[in-house]
Amino acid sequence: MSSLKIALAGVAGRMGRVLVEAVAANPATELSGALTRSGTKEIGLDAGYASGIDTGVCISDDIATALAGCDVLIDFSRPDATLPLLDYCAANGIKAVIGTTGFDDAGKAAIARAAEKTGIVFAANFSVGVNLSFHILDTVARVLNEGYDVEIIEAHHRHKIDAPSGTALRMGEVVAHALGRSLKDCAVYGREGQTGARDAQTIGFATVRGGDIVGDHTVLFAGEGERVEISHKASSRMTFAAGAVRAAVWLAQHPHGLFDMQDVLGLKTAA
Ligand code: NAD
Repeated sequence: MSSLKIALAGVAGRMGRVLVEAVAANPATELSGALTRSGTKEIGLDAGYASGIDTGVCISDDIATALAGCDVLIDFSRPDATLPLLDYCAANGIKAVIGTTGFDDAGKAAIARAAEKTGIVFAANFSVGVNLSFHILDTVARVLNEGYDVEIIEAHHRHKIDAPSGTALRMGEVVAHALGRSLKDCAVYGREGQTGARDAQTIGFATVRGGDIVGDHTVLFAGEGERVEISHKASSRMTFAAGAVRAAVWLAQHPHGLFDMQDVLGLKTAA
């Protein structure tokens, strides 16, 4: 069987550089294109420049060049870069794995529209452990549904530009859904000054930024006399990259539609 051809968007970024290694390491995939932002110094270099891998693929700032002949695009870039790429994928029958975070409601709606024409896996976090945590959180929240205050604490490296992380927000959505609440109505993003006593219906978020932290998330259920904490700590970006490549291989076998990592891992049917 011929390998699945993967194009990477955001190839010169922290995730993009690791994705080049993950595509090379997966026997089912090969790199066919690499896209970066216009005007960046990496244009024209081999996509494996950072890892010493000879991919034979030149980094380009032209969408048509980078996506030529690819089966699946893996995008870890910026929301404003992702959206035009999706139009191109939908028009050209290219499937897409989207790891970029920080989309607003209009951006999420654009992803759903593109998924009517092509297959998309969109996930705030591609690590297997985090997706298992989403699954566990649903169960924990349903059992601790009275008398437990829910707080979500996340920590990331100093370069991260959105907060709270997409993963923390997704954890909040899972818990809110299990408790019959809407995260939009009950989320509290940080506290300062005379806040008054805690409202039992809220889900609080706290964000830490610093150093090279790859990604830590804890959901705390604090009750009278006990606390339950569900924590995940990522120590390497390879966990996200390998998960995204696994999602691309899975997506190649599926028709158009919007999927997430729970679909890829088969966790949804077990929920
Ligand atoms: P980064 O800033 O290191 O890399 C982003 C890259 O995108 C940069 O190289 C930048 O030049 C490029 N880019 C920007 N505009 C572009 C454009 N118009 N066309 C092509 N490329 C463009 O960031 P990062 O740490 O690699 O993270 C990238 C994204 O992935 C972020 O949204 C981050 O939150 C997300 N992320 C998701 C997961 C997950 O599992 N879903 C894991 C880690 C990071």
